[in-house]
Amino acid sequence: MSLDASSNSSSLFERPLLWSPPKGNISRQLIQEKRQVLARRLGTIAQQHACIRLASSLSAEDQVIADIILTDLQRAGHTAIDIFTLETGRLHQETLALLDAVKQKYQYEIKIYQPDPVQVEAYIRRDGLNGFYDSLESRKKCCLIRKIDPLNRALQDADAWITGQRREQSVTRTELEFQEHDGARNIFKYNPLFDWSEAEIWAYVEQYDLPVNVLHYQGYPSIGCEPCTKAVRAGEDPRAGRWWWESRDSKECGLHVSPAPAV
Ligand code: SF4
Repeated sequence: MSLDASSNSSSLFERPLLWSPPKGNISRQLIQEKRQVLARRLGTIAQQHACIRLASSLSAEDQVIADIILTDLQRAGHTAIDIFTLETGRLHQETLALLDAVKQKYQYEIKIYQPDPVQVEAYIRRDGLNGFYDSLESRKKCCLIRKIDPLNRALQDADAWITGQRREQSVTRTELEFQEHDGARNIFKYNPLFDWSEAEIWAYVEQYDLPVNVLHYQGYPSIGCEPCTKAVRAGEDPRAGRWWWESRDSKECGLHVSPAPAV
């Protein structure tokens, strides 16, 4: 083994290479075709339901879906799809800045749902501000108050909802289908990007010049609440930075768990 001081010091202080948006060799033609298929999928959903909501986490995936809803679908007169986000009170400023960027690009205001302040206060008093680090139970409680309850409110009069989930995002999503039945709410749930790759998402972002979270360029492939998200190294599981202190198969906030079989 070399004990060369200069090589040791460079490896000791070398910064790990962080994840960055992939630059795949994807043709513009392919992205145009994928865009047409996605627009058709969204158009079909819009024709089949009266009140549809896109649950946007302001991820690159959700920005792709929003782009088609706010351009092609609106031009075609499909106004049944509203876009909302869950402002948990613990998001990065960089995430919140996207709300303005979307407003500027599309003249559209994403609707914000926030947690019940009484429940938040009770959680903090009982578990502490960052009690979610201490146990899975406390983490799920925090997600219930800050995410799931507001999601339930956002969807209470909807007959379908849309998500930006993709199969290759995590071990918990490999079986994801285009259409599911959300048994908990008894409404339809659609994942129109289920068969898109990460490289295709980023090729679309670049080709159509979409506003995206600047944290993606600082090593964050998947962005949730600030204290529960960190940057990941190149080659790591893209969701490794979400609830990083937990095991891989518990890495969901409860928004998308255990759907009933598709109907
Ligand atoms: S992601 Fe973290 S801060 Fe956000 S709701 Fe869940 S536990 Fe709470």
